[in-house]
Amino acid sequence: MGKAKEVPMRRCCGCMQSKPKAELIRICGGEGFAFIDMEDKGSGRGAYLCRDKKCVESARKKRGIQRSIRKEIRQDILDKLFAEVEEML
Ligand SMILES: [Zn+2]
Repeated sequence: MGKAKEVPMRRCCGCMQSKPKAELIRICGGEGFAFIDMEDKGSGRGAYLCRDKKCVESARKKRGIQRSIRKEIRQDILDKLFAEVEEML
């Protein structure tokens, strides 16, 4: 249709700012699970994070991932997830 390219925006659950989706790390989660969704194919709700340590720390403190996916996540799963996210920064 039109020529205007719409850049999909998503909100980082650390800084709560909307950013182009492609710049963010997508985390997919649901009941009892959460993982980094590299290919954007995971089913379940998504949580997004900037590739920024401040946002990661903030999300951790504010429980941003749990809020975004609206589920509780076991601490060991979260710890593993955050360790993987930090490797991507
Ligand atoms: Zn952020």
